[in-house]
Amino acid sequence: MELKSTMQGVECQKSGVKTGDHLTEQVTADTRLREAEAALQATKEWAQVTLNSIGDAVVTTDLECRVTYLNRVAETLTGWLSSEVIGMPLMEVFSLIDVQTLKAAANPAQRAMEENRTVGLAMGCLLIRRDGSQLEIEDSAAPIHGHDGKTKGAVIVFHDASQSPTQSTKLAYQAQHDALTKLPNRVLFSERLTRAIGLAKRHQHQVALLYLDLDAFKSINDSLGHGIGDLLLQSVAVRLSECTRDTDTICRQGGDEFVVLLSEIDKPEDAARIAEKILTALSAPYRLSNHELHISASIGVSVYPDHGSVDHTLLYNADMAMYHAKKNGRNNYQLFRHDMNALNVQASHIESQLQLALKAETLFLDFQPRIDIATGNLVCAEALVRWRNPTLGLMQPSAFLPVAEAVPIGHWVLLETCRQLQAWREEGVEIVPIAVNISAIELRDKTLPARISDILAQTGIEAHFLEIEITENSLMHHHTEASISTLIELGERGIRIAIDDFGTGSANLKHLKCFPIHTFNIAPCFVHDMLESLESASFIKALINFGQNLALRVIAKGVETQAQLDFLKLQGCDVAQGFLLSKPLSATGFCQLLRLGRPKRQLPKGVLRQAAGSPLIPRVKTLGSR
Ligand code: C2E
Ligand code: MG
Repeated sequence: MELKSTMQGVECQKSGVKTGDHLTEQVTADTRLREAEAALQATKEWAQVTLNSIGDAVVTTDLECRVTYLNRVAETLTGWLSSEVIGMPLMEVFSLIDVQTLKAAANPAQRAMEENRTVGLAMGCLLIRRDGSQLEIEDSAAPIHGHDGKTKGAVIVFHDASQSPTQSTKLAYQAQHDALTKLPNRVLFSERLTRAIGLAKRHQHQVALLYLDLDAFKSINDSLGHGIGDLLLQSVAVRLSECTRDTDTICRQGGDEFVVLLSEIDKPEDAARIAEKILTALSAPYRLSNHELHISASIGVSVYPDHGSVDHTLLYNADMAMYHAKKNGRNNYQLFRHDMNALNVQASHIESQLQLALKAETLFLDFQPRIDIATGNLVCAEALVRWRNPTLGLMQPSAFLPVAEAVPIGHWVLLETCRQLQAWREEGVEIVPIAVNISAIELRDKTLPARISDILAQTGIEAHFLEIEITENSLMHHHTEASISTLIELGERGIRIAIDDFGTGSANLKHLKCFPIHTFNIAPCFVHDMLESLESASFIKALINFGQNLALRVIAKGVETQAQLDFLKLQGCDVAQGFLLSKPLSATGFCQLLRLGRPKRQLPKGVLRQAAGSPLIPRVKTLGSR
């Protein structure tokens, strides 16, 4: 303000007439002018010093967006000297790329002048420096107004964003969160868990950890691609968040594993309730890019202080419990028990022994006959795997199959069954179809149909001599697209499919129509109860009825008494299996039974009830024909 009035005074004096008095006035005016110029210079220098002292880069332009000034920081960041670029078009000196679009960013000075306001640079703008290197910068541009209020140019103020606080906040976020799901990662989770344990100690409450692993994730990822896999993980993360409170923490441990920290619970049952809620929430169908997907999870739960007082023990024990949930058939949760550690050691020991068993030929098959109830004929059998363990002795499947996931036992059983059928045939015995149990994991293997075809071709056995059995539970919990397409392909290759232990799972008959099924095996518990329980009897009647309507075969398993067999016969059940008729037999024992199979029996076509001939098993002789 002072500078301006001084300058106005100088102009007035300059136009005056030079007289004596005037001379004095002239001297005074010259002095004032020099003073004013000095003041102006001082102001300019002060402005320069100020602009060069601040940490931000400053670039000014005129109305045509030509550079009028660069401060020191701008010189350093752009790589240009102010003296070199005065008058040059701004975008030659200050060329920007938007990292989102990877295209040239709009000229900020131009925008500020056009919009007559301060404008911010787009987030993540890269400045192309004189040497071609790139620098992430942030900040804003504003129009410069003269005294008359008119726009005279623009000023851009910017700084190196790679070290800015916003960037470091971003980096801190990235270091603590999972990029895909935006959930906390292990680092942040560990901090929160330690804090939750500390608070629980002080306030005498409990903390629970839920270690969750998706059951069929790998097959979805493999069959539908990582894009769908990623979408699924994101959806799972959302559902998990919906099941928990804001004060709880959900973390993606990596892959398809998540951990949920319930930071304040009163009793382990609270954690169990949340685990159940999560299982239900995750089991609802996912609609992702035209696919309807189903997935389940196995959850292990550990609770502070009962199952550990430090974070890594709690996490380890929850993981261990999760492993047991997997072994327990998946889609369930298990609360950690201290004996799980010992069981786990035993399980891994069994698994490695089983690997050897495949080579050492200590696995073998028994065959349990199945009888046509109407005729008493032997119509088929079930192959049941056994293991002569070198140290533990003869082991039944329930003792080793749950821990044999990593051992290809299923393939061995299929091959051995077909090899055995062929061996019997070569001995001149008329063979019958054999049912082989297939685990849910094997069913999800897309190579199964082709492998079975190879085995059939290799052994010379026709497809209708093989029936695969899959339990109702496995089918319902794992009816992923992969499993369904495997079943369809097996059916197309002429292999018969049976639902084992029907009635124990969650399937309803309507649902089952989606699957290419030939046989229902009624679970032994219904057969066992049917004479005492009206409910079991009604269930069996309904199922037999359903089977007859759809021309499906119904097999009653676990038949132990004559009364049970009589009841089943009365209801029109097709086939029976159980200790009453025969225990599982060795291959030699079963072969002897086959040898009795004269006169020639009809091979099964559709419903086996049509098989003719005299009864083969003495105890069944009493049955007679329907
Ligand atoms: P499953 O498919 O229901 O097989 C029938 C089981 O019931 C057999 O037990 C058999 O010995 C038993 N059983 C037969 N008749 C009677 C009876 O009248 N009363 C009673 N209480 N039990 C009877 P096992 O051999 O111990 O097999 C148990 C389960 O192990 C099988 O149940 C099947 O799900 C599974 N399994 C057996 N072999 C294989 C195999 O090779 N692969 C797969 N994935 N699973 C198999
Ligand atoms: Mg079975």
